[in-house]
Amino acid sequence: MNILLLGAPGSGKGSQSEQILKDFGYVQISTGDLLRDSLSRKTPDGLLAGEYMVKGELVPDDLVIEILRERLNRPDCLKGVIFDGFPRTVIQAEKLDAILEEKGEKLDFVLNIESPFNVLISRLLSRRVCSSCGKTYNMISNPPSGNKCSQCGGEVISRADDREDVIKNRLEVYTQNTLPLVRYFEGKNILISINGDRTVQDIYKDVKRLIEEREKN
Ligand code: AMP
Repeated sequence: MNILLLGAPGSGKGSQSEQILKDFGYVQISTGDLLRDSLSRKTPDGLLAGEYMVKGELVPDDLVIEILRERLNRPDCLKGVIFDGFPRTVIQAEKLDAILEEKGEKLDFVLNIESPFNVLISRLLSRRVCSSCGKTYNMISNPPSGNKCSQCGGEVISRADDREDVIKNRLEVYTQNTLPLVRYFEGKNILISINGDRTVQDIYKDVKRLIEEREKN
């Protein structure tokens, strides 16, 4: 199955993906992670993307679509994919439909995680990530012990775009460019909205049930 996690920055798409991977063995494709990886390797695409990411702007569609297409061609994607942070524009959504169709596949369903912006802002301000494996922490609900990652021992840091001014811009960019995707996927009858103003575990109970129901059909 191909599942899209839709939601504003900080809605917990990454945390939900982590749980889904453990239970269902799907592959997570996060374009944000792919772009940060290209940036850390200082590839030309990564360096260009970094100029947008640091301001909280969207990276141009062509660049992101190409990175996504390459990732989707890897054989591990046959198990099923969780799309996290892609698509973020209607153009990207149309392109994803076309890419999946070429492979004889489709997007099976979209989980739209809805949370109030004030909750998202405080979550993002207290978010920390492992600079080595990307595991996410929260200084209030799930702090790292001694700034070291419990998974790999890497250094736990703040993301460069988790600064208040950049967060506000990311939420505006989300409202302008990504929110229209709710209508887009509603129109295709594959969107399910869930309340994201809950703990990761409580949200995951719904997510797990919804995936299990669909896997049976
Ligand atoms: P994320 O890790 O999903 O929060 O993404 C971090 C940043 O990467 C975003 O603020 C954008 O600058 C860029 N980015 C990630 N995914 C996309 C996408 N699908 N389209 C455009 N830019 C993206």
